[in-house]
This record gives sequence, C-alpha cells and structure tokens, in this order.
Amino acid sequence: MTNADIIVRVAVPLPIESGLDYLWRDTAPPPAPGCRVRVPVAGKSHIGVVIEHPGTGSVDRERLKAVTAPVDSRPIIDAALLASLRWCAGYYHHPIGEVINAALPVLLRRGQSAAPEPEIYWQLTTEGRAVDTPALMRRARRQAALLELLAGHAAVTEAALQALGYTRAELGRLADKGWLARDAREESSTPAPQAALPAGGPALTADQRATLEAIDAAGPNFHAFLLHGVTGSGKTEIYMRLIAEQMLAERQTLLLVPEISLTPQLVSRLEARFGPRLAVMHSALTERDRLAAWQACRSGKAALIVGTRSAVFAPLRQAGLVVVDEEHDASFKQAEGFRYSARDLAVYRAQQLDIPVVLGSATPAFESLYNARQGRYHLLRLPQRIGAAGTPRLRVIDLNRHAVRNGLSAPLLTAIEGHLRAGNQIMLFLNRRGFAPALFCPQCAIAEECTRCDSRMTIHAAGGRLRCHHCGAERALAWACEHCGGERIAVGAGTQRVGEELRTLFPEARIARLDRDATSRRGSLEQVLGEVAQGKTQILVGTQMLAKGHDFPNVTLVGVLNADQGLFGTDFRSDERLAQTIVQVAGRAGRADRPGEVLIQSHYPAHPLFECLREQDYARFAELALAERQATEWPPFSYLIMWRAQASAREPVFDFLRRLARTARERRSHVAVHGPAAAVMERRGGRFRAQVLLQCVRRGPLHELVEELLAEIRRWPEARKVRWAIDVDPAEL
Ligand code: ADP
Ligand code: ZN
Repeated sequence: MTNADIIVRVAVPLPIESGLDYLWRDTAPPPAPGCRVRVPVAGKSHIGVVIEHPGTGSVDRERLKAVTAPVDSRPIIDAALLASLRWCAGYYHHPIGEVINAALPVLLRRGQSAAPEPEIYWQLTTEGRAVDTPALMRRARRQAALLELLAGHAAVTEAALQALGYTRAELGRLADKGWLARDAREESSTPAPQAALPAGGPALTADQRATLEAIDAAGPNFHAFLLHGVTGSGKTEIYMRLIAEQMLAERQTLLLVPEISLTPQLVSRLEARFGPRLAVMHSALTERDRLAAWQACRSGKAALIVGTRSAVFAPLRQAGLVVVDEEHDASFKQAEGFRYSARDLAVYRAQQLDIPVVLGSATPAFESLYNARQGRYHLLRLPQRIGAAGTPRLRVIDLNRHAVRNGLSAPLLTAIEGHLRAGNQIMLFLNRRGFAPALFCPQCAIAEECTRCDSRMTIHAAGGRLRCHHCGAERALAWACEHCGGERIAVGAGTQRVGEELRTLFPEARIARLDRDATSRRGSLEQVLGEVAQGKTQILVGTQMLAKGHDFPNVTLVGVLNADQGLFGTDFRSDERLAQTIVQVAGRAGRADRPGEVLIQSHYPAHPLFECLREQDYARFAELALAERQATEWPPFSYLIMWRAQASAREPVFDFLRRLARTARERRSHVAVHGPAAAVMERRGGRFRAQVLLQCVRRGPLHELVEELLAEIRRWPEARKVRWAIDVDPAEL
C-alpha cells in the first residue's frame, strides 16, 4: 500500500455532522488523529483536525480531494480528549468540527503554532562572574545590579528580568560583552519548579477533616463527590487542600467556576496560595493570553487551571482532579450553538480520565442530589458555617398584609433602619434591573411593548430611556400615551427605582447598585465590590449578581424583594432556581461574628419553600420537589431533548415542527412528543420561536430517534426555511 491509499478523516469547523475524508498523498506518514491540517471544502481552504484514519473503506476515492498541507507534526489534542470530544458530538448531536472548535483557543483554530514560545533563560558566564561588580556599580548601576542578581541564581527567565525593567536589547548588549549567556528551553521539557508549593491554610474543622478524609480514602481513581456545604462552611478551603495534595503528587487540578469576573475574591485567594502555578481561562482574556493558558495546561506548567464553562475541554498533561464550584449554576450550560453542560461533561471527563471529581455547592442541583441518593455520587455535607455567626434568621413578610411602595414594605424598611443604626451593611435582592418594568397607560390599559419582541419595554430613568431587555432595542421615554395623550405611569420597581426610594428615605446612607447597568463600564464591578468590602457602602441593591459567592463580612440584613416572580414559573425547574437564589442570597448575611437576618417579601408566605428555608433545610425542599417531579415524570425521572426552531415568520417554524412532531410520533411509541408549542416569548428580536419536546424514561430511544430524524430532515424543504437547533438536557423549557 502506498501513501496514496491513505485516507484521513478531518473535522472542519462547519455545520457538517461528521468528518470529511481526504487523501494523504505525501510520502511522509499521515498526521495522527489530533493534528491540524489544511483542507479544501467547496473551493475554500479550512483548518481542520484529523479525527481518525478510517482505512480503506467503501468511500469513492476517485472523488476525494487531498489534504493541502499538514499544520502540526504532533497532535495538539491527545487521544483521550479527542475521544471525549467525539463522544460529545454524538451525545449533543452537534457537528464534530464545531465541538472541536469549542475546545481550541481562537489562535489555534486560525493555524497558529501550538508550541509555546520557548522560555528564554539568562545566566552569568565565567567572564560575567569575574566582573568586579562594586567597581561597575559606580559607572553602571543597573548592569551591576543585574550581575549581582544573576550571581545568586543558576538561571533566570527573561520574563522575570523584563518584569524588573531589563529589555531584551539591554540583555543582548551584555551578552555581546561576553558576560551573559542565553539559553532557550521548551517549557514542556522543564517541569515547573517545585519551589512554589502552597502554604498551609487554617487548621481544619472536624467537618472539613472528615470531608477530606472521605475524599482521600476513595483513592486516585474515578469517584464523584457531591459536596453540599452551606455558604461559608469552608468548601473553598477543602478545594485548596485537595489542589495542594495534587500539586505535591505532580498532578493537575481543573477547577470550573461559573463566572470569574463576578468572583475576583476566589481567584485572588487561589493566587495567594498557589501563585505562579495557576492558569486562568475565561472569555475576557485576550486571544494571546488564552493561548498561553492553554499551553500552560498542556505543558503541565500550570498545576491548577481555573476556568469557566469551556475550560472543561482544557488539555491536561497529568490530570489528577476535577472540581466544579457552584455546580448548580445555570452558566455551566451553554445556551447557544453547541449547547453542552460543562458540569455534566466535567463528570464525564473525570470518568474517562479515571480521576475523582468534586461537585460543590451550597444549593446543589436537585438532579445532583438525586444522583447522590441513587448512589452515583458520594454525598458529603458541611452543614455549619465557620465562625460564630451561626445561620441567619429567616422571616417572610406577608405582602397581603403589608403594601409595598416602590418595591419596599414597611416591615422591611423598619429592619433596614435598625441595621443601619447598628452600623451594619444591608443587601437587597431584586431580580429586575432598570427603573420600572412597565410604562402603563391607565386609560387605555396598555403597556408599551417592544416592536420586535413579545415583551414590555423597561423604563431606565437615568437617561429617560425605554429599553427592551431581550433584544436591546432602545427609544426615548415619553410620558404621554400615543393613543389617548393621557399621562402614563411607571408600574413596578426595578433596582434603580428601589435605589432612588432608599436615597429619599435614608439620605445619610451610602447606597450602591450591583446589576449589569451599574457595572457595564470596565472596572466598575471591581469598584462596587471593593467599596462594599471596605464597608463604604451601607446598602447594596442588586440583581442575581448578588448571589455569586461574595464574602462581605458586615452584611447582617438581606432582603428579597420579589420572591414570587419565581414561585409559580412555567418551567419545572422554577422552584429549584428560586430556592437556590434565595439560599445563595441569604448566605451573604452574617458571615463573620454578627448574626444575620433574612427577610423575604411574598404574597404566599405559606409556600412549602419558605417553610423549608426557615428551617435551613434546602435538602428537604429538594426531596419534596423531587417527589413531585417523580409523580409528573420530569427529569431526573425522564430525559428530555428539545428541538428548537426559529424564523422571521411564524408559518415556516410551525410547518417544520409539525412535520417533525408527526414523524417522531410515527416512529416511536415510547418517546413522548410534546408540541409544537410557541416559546415562552414567541417573538424575540423579530424572530418567531417554537419547539418540540421529546421525552423518554430511557436515554437510548430518545437519542436513536433524534439520529433518525436528523437523517430524514435533510430531505425536507421545510427544514431549509428555518434555523433549528437540538438542545439535549435543556436547562430551560
Ligand atoms: P465556602 O467556600 O463554603 O463559602 P470558605 O472556604 O470560603 O467557605 O470559608 C469561609 C471563610 O472561613 C473564609 O473566610 C475562610 O478563609 C474561612 N475558613 C475556612 N476554613 C477555615 C478553618 N478551618 N478555620 C478558620 N477559618 C476557615
Ligand atoms: Zn425587544
């Protein structure tokens, strides 16, 4: 067999289900799976990744094109990761090329070299050692100081010297004199220095010790742990101990977090303890920095990789442990394109790598608690906070008996006053930004709507603007109604309005807002958080952003202004999300030595959720909710795949989905086919959206059905008139 017979299968970043086959005509051996190659697709050149050597199959080789050129000589995706990515493509029914793309930094997708720039070291030559530095000090201070510095080390990286202000040109001049020598090493050949081993941390509590022992006792192979620890119970400390153990054993830890920008405190704690062996991966990095972080993972230089969602695909050289912090967080599910769940994939990857995985949260996903109950996860609990504060007291303010004015009821105002007087801090949670959610005409009984969405315009008072929170449309605010000319009113309250009301009622207090509007400027988020941490801010009014792991020791009162919004949602997960948000927000109260108080405003004070929360029993509420889901066969008691479609008109969307639903019903009696149904907000950004929901108590038939439908809709003219997407294990219905 000559090389002309060799076929390589290549995944290209295009919406093509599987790989494309190409001939390898070179005399050199073909690039291994995991290597990038340049290939032609429909007359255009693309960079793809070889996924396999399919051998001499049944393909019509006459029609095959040849690989244009190889990019890598060694795989940039190792066999284990490649296998996982191929599994993902199958499980999520998503094109393999786009899945692989999600795992690669943009610069690599564009063909840049995957090898890290060789690290350059500088050292003294024998001649350099002989220089009379005290004499030199009088003529050339900087040079003498450099020689002295280098005399104390075998070699120092150029990066370190540049950080001290020495330029490459300057170093080059000293090398020309024969004093210095330059030495380039590839990073992967120099294991990172052991020197930076993590420093201790506090003495562990008995609960923490038991938790660590349980994890250690399970050994270095795959085990999934669910660490359910209340806010401030020392979960992060547990992660850090586990990470340190891995470092000692020369193994890497992958730590997934929901949103790095919202939790600067976590990263700085990790930095303080693990220093230079930490690599951070998230979307706000520059492309160069992302590539550098990817390289640091792959070379093993980074011992701890902290990243958001897509870091679950980080290339690990010597993986030892995966941790998912706040595992319940919705941001782990990608909502567009390749709709994967990084939490689920973290467990899958740990299983493939045969290493332990720890899922941590103060409010675990009900599905995770169910997995623990089924024995798939090992449940570990940290039921108590560290420190003396104890758990906060929780009270529901019955809105049937107390009216709200601009979002605030009288009992809440009284409490705010008391906590202000005591010199403490207060957090108010309201899941609604802007001034008011509706501009309403009482005569015509209509609210102003967005022209492109089935949604009301939100009033943003600051600039006198109306804004749609779904498509971003904006227009000037006019109080006069366009139909009757009468005066319209702002109905309801958002964070801006609550902030203004508080400013009127407590003119002395320093009040700040934490929402997307208040933190859109670069650096403003850090500023808001910083001022709360320093105690400058007394009342912080904020959205969901408040629920994210901030540690503000002087907050003693937390108010939840509109709990009812989530109480009777349309989604079977509404109650779960509400419980998580309330417990997370409540967790900000009384962390240090001051007891906390949580006040919840609701029209339904007798709801079982509040009952459970009052007793700090999130797990019991989860049990109740799971029992209800079992009765109604919602996940985790069944599996779901959502087929979504959209177009600029309603007709084609429903034509396509009706045919899809009909075909699905014809094929499978044991898969329930729901719909088509319009999306909760049918029109958004000028596009009509609807969906078909497929449901089955077993995964197998569901996925087989989707495969069959995929093969069939290729021939449907209806499928070409819409944009459709498959959402496996949808997070939102
Ligand atoms: P969580 O991640 O569960 O919210 P943390 O690990 O952040 O909890 O711990 C909460 C606070 O208690 C932090 O300020 C942390 O430094 C401190 N802490 C954690 N473990 C201990 C311990 N064993 N002894 C004293 N303080 C601790
Ligand atoms: Zn809109």
